[in-house]
Amino acid sequence: MCQKILFLIASIFLAISRSMAADLPYLDPKVPIDTRVEDLLGRLTLEEKISLLHADSKFTTAAIPRLGIPRRWLDDGPHGVREDIGPDTWAPAGRTDDFSTAMPSGICLGSTWNPDLGFKEGEALGQEARWRGKDIMLGPGVNILRTPLCGRNFEYLGEDPYLSGVMCSAYIRGEQSMDVSSCVKHFALNNQEYERGSINVEVDERALREIYLPAFKAAVQSGGVWCVMGAYNQLRNQHCCHNFHLLSQILKEEWGFRGLVMSDWDGTHDTGQAALNGLDLEMGTDKPYAQYYLAQPYLDGLNSGAFPQAGLDEKVRRNLRVMLATHVLDVDRKKGSLNTAAHQGVARQVAEEGMVLLKNENHTLPLKAGALKTIAVIGENATRLQAHGGESSGIKAFYEINPLDGIVKRVGGNVNVIYSEGYRKGGGGDLAERAVTAARSADAVVYIGGLNHDPGYDCEGSDRKDMKLPYGQDELIQKIVAANPKTVVVLVGTMVEMDRWLDKVPALIQAWYPGMEGGNALARVLFGDANPSGKLPATFPKILVDSPAHALGSYPGTNGTVTYSEGLLVGYRWFDTKDIDPQFPFGFGLSYTTFKYSNLKLIPGTNLVVTAQFEVKNTGDLPGGEVAQLYIHQKKPGLPRPERELKGFQKVFLKAGESKIVSIPLNTAAFAFYDDRRKSWVAEKDTFTIAVGGSSRNLPLRADFQTAENVGVQ
Ligand code: BGC
Repeated sequence: MCQKILFLIASIFLAISRSMAADLPYLDPKVPIDTRVEDLLGRLTLEEKISLLHADSKFTTAAIPRLGIPRRWLDDGPHGVREDIGPDTWAPAGRTDDFSTAMPSGICLGSTWNPDLGFKEGEALGQEARWRGKDIMLGPGVNILRTPLCGRNFEYLGEDPYLSGVMCSAYIRGEQSMDVSSCVKHFALNNQEYERGSINVEVDERALREIYLPAFKAAVQSGGVWCVMGAYNQLRNQHCCHNFHLLSQILKEEWGFRGLVMSDWDGTHDTGQAALNGLDLEMGTDKPYAQYYLAQPYLDGLNSGAFPQAGLDEKVRRNLRVMLATHVLDVDRKKGSLNTAAHQGVARQVAEEGMVLLKNENHTLPLKAGALKTIAVIGENATRLQAHGGESSGIKAFYEINPLDGIVKRVGGNVNVIYSEGYRKGGGGDLAERAVTAARSADAVVYIGGLNHDPGYDCEGSDRKDMKLPYGQDELIQKIVAANPKTVVVLVGTMVEMDRWLDKVPALIQAWYPGMEGGNALARVLFGDANPSGKLPATFPKILVDSPAHALGSYPGTNGTVTYSEGLLVGYRWFDTKDIDPQFPFGFGLSYTTFKYSNLKLIPGTNLVVTAQFEVKNTGDLPGGEVAQLYIHQKKPGLPRPERELKGFQKVFLKAGESKIVSIPLNTAAFAFYDDRRKSWVAEKDTFTIAVGGSSRNLPLRADFQTAENVGVQ
């Protein structure tokens, strides 16, 4: 209510200033944006300019009433519009109108491999952000999954730069179509939470360019993102929020980014660097607002001549450009909508398409509700609400259907569903025994465990200590399967070691954090109303030390520095190049139907280098979705390259028996690597194997392709 009144006042205010100054170019939506920016810039006093460069509460910047510039509202985040905080503390503002639709977490969206769905999610979030009066949404998060232990892996889009780039840019295009700016984060190399505020990352330039930056580059160049958030950590001994190489040289100069760079909250540490290296908006510093690095100290430096005025104008220009591009000063700015049936539908669809069927022996799944009298649902995660968890990406959800609710809703009345908690933090009584008794008495068991956003288990601010299932679940699962072999294991959260029980369970689903419609989505997958089509966006190692950073001992760093000694060999690039068997490979995921790939043709192009064309057929008897993936391998590269690299994919939905021709175009950039000797991207003249299939380790179609000449690619 209060928010509505504020809106009303702001609109009246804008209308009055517009009628008083109908001839002001910056207020005229018909005038080109850059002309409006320059006009407005010319009207600002020095102090007003400074006020646009730093926060005036936890999530706002100051209004400039005399010019009709309203307060700017920022908000987390990637999975929904976070509850209101502050104004001057992290405590919730205590409102009753700050609920939001809770989407599944980022890694679940990554698992859908469906950019159309990414767009729809972004669009829904943009609508909700507008309804809640927000101007900038702090997401998506696109840091690469370097180690399974990173506490924020659940928020990000997995281990592959290309997949992350495609998914995040679709999301951004959707969100920004609603007159709100996205803010891609955390730029860059925020790959661990351990010592995140200070850790210095040493990474070679090639790995930086090929692994850690492409998703950001896609966000800028293909998503058109308006805001970028700097990371907490340092790169080569300079904090990322004012890192000259990242912000000035790469982001702004090379990629041509025209929006604004904001700091992560309390990620700014130095006025000189903030002034000169490319930071445009300082947020969350642990000082009084007037003392922020880009407030009084910056003003002092400008007045003394230590910092150039042109630098100030450039920062202000970027802030104004984002405001005008998102129609902050326009009367017909989109108003948005909240928690509509369509938004709930998107939340459910992302959850459904993101869940990954990892194992399904003897057609254990889908469960046939009509053939079951009693189902035992076991595990604390069956009833736990997750959407609010994980810290800054947590959501005050309108509602959350937990897995037990979803299952009861789907079969209740016809099937007796018994619930047993099974495990709990801190253990307790005879939980395991009761669960085993329940398992024994049922026709089938659905075990719902995994991680849960508690600190140390998929939560911002700390990493996991190991990759094991907590709370004695390894033992519990074994007891339950022994009691009832028809046990389906559903894991919530990110990847865990499964070596102690995987061979004993007939069916396994990776459900991630599936958002407020998660229970419904899970029930639909379990009972076959939906056919799983998710594919892993990250390799699941058998044991932690199989993964590169751990095999090489290059996590979490020593004496404040972490050296990425695995270089390019992150995720499947490591497992495939070193020929290590993962538990489940990148890109893997089963379906209730089967697919056949055939007839790969490489069609040379003019602008494009080549188009790979092939047929995918649904050879089973259910409709289903398949993610066709294309990887390249260069035969004799001038510098070593990973065994294979994802360069294209397409999700296709096919009826039983149906087939489709899939075309994946590859441009020059798809063949290029970053040559750090020449400081540029190079596509060499060589033979490339193009491999196509349903996962990084199942690529039935292969053909060689000869590239014509060396090309320097931007
Ligand atoms: C997180 C950001 C978040 C910000 C504001 C920081 O601690 O790293 O991702 O957007 O807080 O909540």
